[in-house]
Amino acid sequence: MKSIFRKKCLSCGSKNLNEIINLGDHSFADRFIPIKRKKIKDPKFPLILDLCKKCKFIQSKAITNPKDRYVNMDYSYTSANSTYSKSHWKSFSKILEQETNIKNKKIIEIGSNDGFLLSILKKKGAKVLGVDASNFMVNLSKRKKINSVQAIFDFKESIKIKNKFGKADIIIANNVFNHSNQPASFLKGIYNILNNKGLFIFEQPYFLKSLTTLKFDQIYHEHISYFTARNIDSILKRNSLKIYKIKMNNYHGGSIRTIATKENYKKINVNLRKIIKLENKKNIYNLKFYKKIMYKINNKKKVLLNKIDNLISKNYTIIGIGAGAKSNTFLTYYGLNNNKIKFLTDSSKFKKNKLTPITRIPIKDDSAIVKINKLACIILSWNISKMVIKKIKKINNKAIIIKT
Ligand SMILES: [Zn+2]
Repeated sequence: MKSIFRKKCLSCGSKNLNEIINLGDHSFADRFIPIKRKKIKDPKFPLILDLCKKCKFIQSKAITNPKDRYVNMDYSYTSANSTYSKSHWKSFSKILEQETNIKNKKIIEIGSNDGFLLSILKKKGAKVLGVDASNFMVNLSKRKKINSVQAIFDFKESIKIKNKFGKADIIIANNVFNHSNQPASFLKGIYNILNNKGLFIFEQPYFLKSLTTLKFDQIYHEHISYFTARNIDSILKRNSLKIYKIKMNNYHGGSIRTIATKENYKKINVNLRKIIKLENKKNIYNLKFYKKIMYKINNKKKVLLNKIDNLISKNYTIIGIGAGAKSNTFLTYYGLNNNKIKFLTDSSKFKKNKLTPITRIPIKDDSAIVKINKLACIILSWNISKMVIKKIKKINNKAIIIKT
C-alpha cells in the first residue's frame, strides 16, 4: 500500500512540519488476526511523528483510513478487558458524579467501545448514547442494552446524532479524540452537540510522560495526535472550547484528563500556565530533544535484544505478557517475531487464538506457561506490570521476568 503523508498541521494548518520520531514500517497496532486468516497481508505504513513548527502540535505523518483501522478487522480492545481497566472506568464515573449531577442528564460517549462505562452511567439514571467506529463494539454494547450507533465521529456525524438524540449535557471521549484523523472537525462536532452549559470530558495518553519514560510503544497508527496540555489548550481554543480542568492520572502508563466547556461558561480552575511552562521546560518542542530520545530508545533496544539472544542460547523459551496495541509497536520495532517469541498471553477472550500483525506471534491463555521449564517473560503490558508479575509468579514461580 502506498503511503500518503500529511502536509498540513491538523491543528493550525501550517505546512511547516518537522519529523521528530521515526519507528519504521508498522501495521495497525490493534489488528489481531484470527488464525484462519493468518495468510492475509498486513497493510504497513511508516510510523513517523511530526511536530508543527508554528503551533507545536504533534501528529502522525502517514495518513491511514479509519475504516481500515476499526472496521475491516474486528477491533479487539474492550474497556471491560481487565479488572484494572474496569476499576479505572468505575472511578471515572465517580469523578464525573462529583463534577455534576448525572441523573436524567443526556450523556453521549464517543468511542463507547463495549459500552462498559455507559452501562454504569445508565444505572445511575443518565440517558445515554454510545458512538463507536467499530461495528463489533456497537453490537457488544447493544447486547448490554446500551443505545449505540456506529460512526467515525466528526462534524458531519454530529449533525445526524443531534437530529436523533438532541444536544448532550455531557460528552465523554476517552482514548478516542487522539484517534481522530480530523481533530478540528471532531471538536466542531462536539461544539455542535454540546449544551451551552455542558461538559466535554476526555482523557488520552499524556505524551510528555511517554517521552520522559521512553515508552515509545504508545505511538501507533491508531493514534493520530499526541497530546500535551499546551496542545490540548490550543486546539480547543481554535474550536471555541476551553479547558476547565486538567489532570494527570496513571492509566495507560500516564494519561491526561481534560474537562472542557464552551467559551463563556465556567472559569478555568487550574493553573494551566504553570503546567504548560513545565512542559516547555522539558524542551519537548525542540528537535534536538528527539535526537536524544531516538538515541536512547535504540540503545535500550540493543541491550534488550542481546539479553533475549543470550537467554535463547541457554534454551530459554521467550514469551510476551499482554497482547495490547502497544505490544505490537514494541515487537515490530524490535523485530521480535515468532522465531524468537513463542507466544503472547492475554486474558481477553477477543485476543486468544489470534496472531499479532506482521510478527505473527500466537496469543494464548495464561495457563500456557504452566509446564514450561526454562521460561523468560517479557512484560509488554508494563503499565500494569506489578499485577502481571504477581500473576506469572503464581503460575510459574521459576519464570525470569524481562522488563521493557
Ligand atoms: Zn500547527
